[in-house]
Amino acid sequence: MENVNTMSIKVTSKCNYACGMCPFHGEGYSADYFGQRPELKRDMTLEEIELSLKKAKDFGISTIDFTPNGEFFAHKQWREILELTSKNGMKITVTTNGGLLSEKDIQDACDLGLSHVAVSIDSISYDTYKVVRKPATKQSFENAIHAPIYFKQNSHRGGAIFMFKCKSQNSLKTKMNLVIF
Ligand code: SF4
Repeated sequence: MENVNTMSIKVTSKCNYACGMCPFHGEGYSADYFGQRPELKRDMTLEEIELSLKKAKDFGISTIDFTPNGEFFAHKQWREILELTSKNGMKITVTTNGGLLSEKDIQDACDLGLSHVAVSIDSISYDTYKVVRKPATKQSFENAIHAPIYFKQNSHRGGAIFMFKCKSQNSLKTKMNLVIF
């Protein structure tokens, strides 16, 4: 068996969106999911995260993946979380919808050690995007589609590598546009 070296942590149940397909927030899911698990509808505390990181490190984990569901950047202390993880000498990966991120946020995230990021963008057309990411505003859409560009521009800081994640939505009947840098 290969060594396990990556651990995923969902630091928050919160999200800026409530996408229809989301098992946390989607229509028909949310009431059931959190109704049956009310203790999970919260943010992890810094103390809990620190303890998890320590145990992971002791176990030989070298990469922490802050993954959905729940949007990492919806946790009010995301900067402190990145700092803690970096201080433990661990590589950091994040999957984000990008909707909350200003250029300054992205600079900060790269400065704090975020090195690999996946941005979920369902379309570069606002009309299509807002069907999937609800309730998207023009600003959150623009944040999302600019996020890969800003991560790329700040790659000299922490060496952020990014990837697009696109889901094909049959009901949208829209051709996906993939932008390669
Ligand atoms: S952006 Fe992700 S975590 Fe947030 S509601 Fe949509 S699918 Fe769920």
